[in-house]
Amino acid sequence: MTGALLEIRGLRAVFDGFAALDGVDLTVEEGELRFLIGPNGAGKTTLIDVITGLTRPAAGTVRFAGTDLVGRREHEIVRLGVGRTFQTAVVFEELTVVENLDLAASFRRPLWRLLRRRRGVDDAVREALAVTGLTELAERPARVLSHGQRQWLEIGMLLVQRPRLLLLDEPVAGMSRDERARTGELLTEIARGHTVVVVEHDMEFLRRYASRVTVLHEGRVLTEGSVDEVRADPRVQAVYLGG
Ligand code: ADP
Repeated sequence: MTGALLEIRGLRAVFDGFAALDGVDLTVEEGELRFLIGPNGAGKTTLIDVITGLTRPAAGTVRFAGTDLVGRREHEIVRLGVGRTFQTAVVFEELTVVENLDLAASFRRPLWRLLRRRRGVDDAVREALAVTGLTELAERPARVLSHGQRQWLEIGMLLVQRPRLLLLDEPVAGMSRDERARTGELLTEIARGHTVVVVEHDMEFLRRYASRVTVLHEGRVLTEGSVDEVRADPRVQAVYLGG
C-alpha cells in the first residue's frame, strides 16, 4: 500500500430535499479490495454515482490520486482512471466478446491507432480475456453469454481501459453459486493490480473474499472494519435485522 487513492470528505447528495448521502467520509488505500455494504436505500449507488460524476454532490470533496473529481464530467473521470460497472451489465449484444473488449479498449487508444488497420488482438484485450476466463468464448456474440459471463465481460471492458480504481455495483447479484465463486476469485485477482470498491451484501461472499468492509446506513458511514468486526457490531445487526 502506498497511501490513499480515494479520499472522500463530508459528501452530501440531496434529491428533492432528501439527503441520500449525509456527510460521508471514506478513504480507500491504493491496492485495496474494499467492500461497501448497507441496507437498501443506504446510499451505496448514489456514492458511486457521485464519484463517477453522474450525480453532483451538494457538498463535500472527492479526491482521486490527488485530483478533485467534483464538478468534472463523466468522461473526464473515466480518463483519470476511474471505471465502474452497473447492476445490469451493459454490453453490445450483437458484437462478439472480443469485439466488445476491443471497442472498450479503443476508448483509451490514440486516434492514429484507431485509423490504422488492426493487427490482431491487443495485449490488454488478451489479458482481459484470460483474467475473466472468456478466452474460449472470444468469438461468440455477447447475446449467448450467461448472466455471469456477461458481468465478467463488463469487468473485462473496464480492465482494457486500464483504470486505477474499479467501482463494481453488486457484481454477484443474480449469479449461481459457481459463478459467485468464480467472481470472488476474479475480484481477488484484479485487486492484485488495481484498487477495487465492491458494493455487495451477501455475507457469505463477504466472509470469503472481503478483508475490509465499510457499512453505509441512511447516507452515513455507520462503521468500518473487518468482516467479523462489522458483523459483531450491534449497530450493524440492528440495521440489518431492523431492530
Ligand atoms: P442503495 O444503493 O444503498 O440501495 P441508493 O443510493 O440507490 O441506495 O439510494 C439512496 C436513497 O436515495 C434512496 O432513498 C433513493 O430512493 C434515493 N435516490 C437515489 N437516487 C435518486 C434519484 N435520482 N432521485 C431521487 N431519489 C433518489
